[in-house]
Amino acid sequence: MNTVPTPLQEIDLSIKDNPNNIRLFLKQEYLNHPLIQGNKWRKLKYNLEAFRESGKKNLLTFGGAFSNHIHATAAMGKHFGISTIGIIRGERAAILSPTLNFAEANGMQLHFISREKYRNKYQENQLEEWKTLFDNFYLLPEGGTNEAALRGCRELGEEIMQQTTTLTPDIVCLPVGTGGTLAGLVSGLPPSIQVIGFSVLKGEFIKREVRSLVEQFGGHDTCSYKVNVSYHFGGYAKWSTELVDFMNSFKNKHDIPIDPVYNGKMMYGILDLIRKGYFPEGTKILAIHTGGLQGIEGFNQRFGNLLH
Ligand SMILES: *Cc1c(COP(=O)(O)O)cnc(C)c1O
Repeated sequence: MNTVPTPLQEIDLSIKDNPNNIRLFLKQEYLNHPLIQGNKWRKLKYNLEAFRESGKKNLLTFGGAFSNHIHATAAMGKHFGISTIGIIRGERAAILSPTLNFAEANGMQLHFISREKYRNKYQENQLEEWKTLFDNFYLLPEGGTNEAALRGCRELGEEIMQQTTTLTPDIVCLPVGTGGTLAGLVSGLPPSIQVIGFSVLKGEFIKREVRSLVEQFGGHDTCSYKVNVSYHFGGYAKWSTELVDFMNSFKNKHDIPIDPVYNGKMMYGILDLIRKGYFPEGTKILAIHTGGLQGIEGFNQRFGNLLH
């Protein structure tokens, strides 16, 4: 069922866009599981175990109408026979997003709440409300980020090292949402490798959050890392025509689909930095394609089939 290790593919860079002769490899994590794709499978793997050990009846989690995490959790519930509950930000729309349609079709019970309530979802009185509404649940935080998730993402780092013994990367890149995947990854890589996370959220705050996750869960011998905050395109799920054009031409050229929320922004950022000569001569970069392809349908439905 699982393709592990996920394959590496070298990306052909044209000479004019690559002044420092960088080599770029893409680790195709989107192929790791047919339904529970990319980093979301890495994050869910040990949560599945913890859920089973907890003896709880339901698995309860949180997300927006287009959330990859909601999609992945619903698919996991169906696949492994677990009852799932999704607390969804905002009102229920007359026509559900493809993500929420999928979640419901896979047996997830959806519960819609106001944005304000959503912001306070972990506060004591809110937790009490969830407890009266839904009995006996295992709580999985938004985006699936917790200690068990980081353990799964640590294996991603270890897998990269086993896979690249003859061609060890100098830098590993990945997109950053909550930073959970990055924090797990850095604990699975040696100090000789640098990690660069491309934040898809606007603002510097994410640097603090990532640091706190690494300190909490990362252990001592993590590799060095930084978070680039220059390629968010206006914020979470924001986009521009330039980004869409880039994504379409990337897919045409390399025959690799990328999602607009995470990997489109990361790839744009990496290729832009390469073009500007940011990386030293001959640097070997491994970029992790974290999946999220389910989001393309919802994006096209909302904005008019922009992505090919
Ligand atoms: C959730 C997600 C991320 C971000 O992962 P974090 O652990 O929250 O940083 C990146 N890429 C894809 C495709 C995702 O679905």
